[in-house]
Amino acid sequence: MQQPLKLYNTLSRQKDLFEPINPPYVGMYVCGPTVYNYVHLGNVRTFLTFDTLFRYLTHIGYKVRYVRNITDVGHLVGDGDDGEDKIGKAAKLERLEPMEIVQRYTNDFRNVMLQFNLLPPSIEPTATGHLVEQIEAVRTLIDRGLAYESNGSVYFDISQYNQRGNDYGKLSGRVLEDLLSEPRELDGQAEKRNPLDFAIWKRAAPEHIMQWESPWGKGFPGWHLECTCMSTKYLGRQFDIHGGGMDLKFPHHECEIAQGRGIHEVEPVRYWMHSNMLTVNGQKMSKSLGNSFLPGELFTGTHPLLEQAYTPMTVRFFMLQSQYRSTLDFSNEALKAAQKGYKRLANGLRIAKTLTYAEAEGVAIDEKKKQDIEKSIQAFYDAMNDDLNTAVAIASLFNLLKYVNMIYMNQLAPAAIGANTFGQLRDQFVAFMENVLGLQEEPAENSEAVLNGMLSLYREYKEQKQYDKVDQIRSYFKNQGLVIKDMKHRIDWAYEE
Ligand SMILES: [Zn+2]
Repeated sequence: MQQPLKLYNTLSRQKDLFEPINPPYVGMYVCGPTVYNYVHLGNVRTFLTFDTLFRYLTHIGYKVRYVRNITDVGHLVGDGDDGEDKIGKAAKLERLEPMEIVQRYTNDFRNVMLQFNLLPPSIEPTATGHLVEQIEAVRTLIDRGLAYESNGSVYFDISQYNQRGNDYGKLSGRVLEDLLSEPRELDGQAEKRNPLDFAIWKRAAPEHIMQWESPWGKGFPGWHLECTCMSTKYLGRQFDIHGGGMDLKFPHHECEIAQGRGIHEVEPVRYWMHSNMLTVNGQKMSKSLGNSFLPGELFTGTHPLLEQAYTPMTVRFFMLQSQYRSTLDFSNEALKAAQKGYKRLANGLRIAKTLTYAEAEGVAIDEKKKQDIEKSIQAFYDAMNDDLNTAVAIASLFNLLKYVNMIYMNQLAPAAIGANTFGQLRDQFVAFMENVLGLQEEPAENSEAVLNGMLSLYREYKEQKQYDKVDQIRSYFKNQGLVIKDMKHRIDWAYEE
């Protein structure tokens, strides 16, 4: 008997049976990137987790509306209520229009997602495209007495919220008293009634580049508000799944719950899911430690910690070898092992597609093998149903691979497992690989997505004056029979003449 799908719910702190509000439809919202610099590998893991969930839910018959936003305003340096807007800051540094920054890094993000074979979401809304909804939401919260204006900014009133029977902190398990004792930045605190109140609208200083007219003067929306507005606009006031990286649990998702309950008077999300972090050789991945990778650095091997280049499918497979809630440690040894494992599976995928069934006289059914294949298929589903345990699912996949190879090598006659089991083996193996895990035969090394990703990296290295790396990328192109055309206003690649 197949195990039902259970997902770990951060809100209930246990694996909950997955029961969508309106089956077979599933609404899923995932916090997308803030597009102010290149997407990092840690972000890729988060999006890969929810890509796998999206794929699996679709595979087992759900019709999923997957909304993943682009944050193009309101996310401030430090993730709090103060400091510069991340995009505005990048625009100043790079001397570009904020929307030029947004476009550049949105392009990079989509390109990276393609390289890792992540499916595009059903809807990809932007914060700046939903200012009307956000201003409306602020107005509603003020009308309900859950927010107040102060000096041109509007803050969510945590004490009012809790007095009405709500529990700010329930998602992250934070206790108000503890939160209050935490040191915080002083800027903006004077405007708040309570230090924990968070901005849903911020007054913009005249020099602030991105600002809009509102009933409270010129300003911009608070970062947390956009996700409440965009998720409920496209998925309803209550929807099934909300995902994101673990670091977003507090304050971002906590604030989303407060806003959702405040505006719609209903619990906004049924299942909150959070993916764990990436570490490198046991250390937290961070820019300041010099151990954070850009995807392009992996594909070219241009990072001091890397011994060689790794392909996008190797990295995807590597990440799937861990369940999304466990930490995942990057090391050359682990990546090299993943490369071997992935190549074996990819070869299996190629040959599985060529296998055909043939009846054979005098071939008896090998019950043991037949049952082992059927059990392995079941085990794959059971593992996925156990909170997307891809690590265990992949072990079953390798067991199926064994039989694919045996048939291909004529060590096992298809007739020995019967037409039905043979069909299941071939079709499920291909579906598990391609549809569920998103693992495909490696695209040619000079696929356009890969090359464009390299060009982004080339541009970045050049800006940072890291000329040895610039040269490495040039020679990578040269090895593919290509040249980088570095013109004054445009960098492009072309075939060598
Ligand atoms: Zn969000």
